[in-house]
Amino acid sequence: MRTVEEHQAIVAGLIKARAPQRLSLTDALGLVLAEDVTAPLSLPGFDNSAMDGYAVVADDVAGASAEHPVLLPVAEDIPAGRTDQLTLKSGTAHRIMTGAPLPAGATAVVPVEATDGAIDTVTIRATAKIGQHIRHAGEDVTAGNVVLRAGQLITPAALGLAAALGLAELTVVPRQRVLVMSTGTELVAPGTPLQPGQIYESNAVMLAAAIRDAGAEVLASAMSGDDVDTFRATLDRHAADADLIITTGGVSAGAYEVVKDALAEQVEFVKVAMQPGMPQGSGTVNGIPIITLPGNPVSALVSFEVFVRSPLRGAMGAPQPGRPRRTAVLTEDLTSPRGKRQFRRGVLTGDDVTSYGPPASHHLRWLASANCLLEIGEDVIELPAGSPVPVWDLS
Ligand code: AMP
Ligand code: MG
Repeated sequence: MRTVEEHQAIVAGLIKARAPQRLSLTDALGLVLAEDVTAPLSLPGFDNSAMDGYAVVADDVAGASAEHPVLLPVAEDIPAGRTDQLTLKSGTAHRIMTGAPLPAGATAVVPVEATDGAIDTVTIRATAKIGQHIRHAGEDVTAGNVVLRAGQLITPAALGLAAALGLAELTVVPRQRVLVMSTGTELVAPGTPLQPGQIYESNAVMLAAAIRDAGAEVLASAMSGDDVDTFRATLDRHAADADLIITTGGVSAGAYEVVKDALAEQVEFVKVAMQPGMPQGSGTVNGIPIITLPGNPVSALVSFEVFVRSPLRGAMGAPQPGRPRRTAVLTEDLTSPRGKRQFRRGVLTGDDVTSYGPPASHHLRWLASANCLLEIGEDVIELPAGSPVPVWDLS
């Protein structure tokens, strides 16, 4: 049997980053920059007013106060967006709005609150320090400087900066495009009536969500019965643009194991010493990596967590691709099978962790309300309350 680490390494070796791609800002959120971003212009781009008020020569309002106001004729009105270049003559004021270009010659802005707000002759009731309420060109960003680094996560604020610099696109590590395929003749899509012996399909929905949650794109989540020809046709129909194929079911030891039967040449089917999730497989189909997960829903999702999620995020450049892991204190006695790494579903509350639901791999209900996985070593068969136990924080 393979160890968890051996299979993790094999899966990680298969999943490769795509070549960097230019994407519009709207599509780039949550991805990672593939290149440094150099500012094509300075920010602010020009000296401008930080307040609604009056541009003045500071000396002209020296000594102004409520008792001894200074009166200045208002020579210009400068709303934000005015594009002509103005010059302020000493002894006059320009009414100016926040973000409007400062006229040449102005050395301060007097806020409207310190004036009577007039548009012909303004009464100014306060002095102004030189430079007051002026935002100087380049004080935020200097053209030519690197403002965002390759490897950085593209956040809303990073997008705001890119837009402020006039950039319409960014060069990113593209999303992985994943094809999900679930198998099983017993499966029926939710929303359809069930015949006796049929069950609702849940893996494709769940894995597609997990893939999107990991930041990747789901090309399709397809369903196939346990018939080799149908399986192959479904795979061929959807696989062309995929960077990764994930299947569920059809890999254990019974008959009608469609994934095993269809992909005997391309996939290495193995047993991994873990519970749940023992039957696994990995390989390539027409050069596209494929990971074949077991069919039980808990096994499928736990296997995705243990083997796929981190390398998938790593291939998209995620700075921290793996789930946060830490040690918590077990609140109850647990037993665990010898020779297998056990991943129990658990609830983490502060530093305490309690297992949640039975270990068997069809108990989806418990997984749905768990917030962590407890990782119990192969050599551990009994774990008393109070033991430290490694947990994967899924929250
Ligand atoms: P298999 O590995 O195909 O033998 O499936 C193992 C168990 O998981 C069986 O009980 C299947 O019915 C169930 N199962 C497999 N695939 C799915 C799926 N996509 N949705 C829900 N249950 C599934
Ligand atoms: Mg099956």
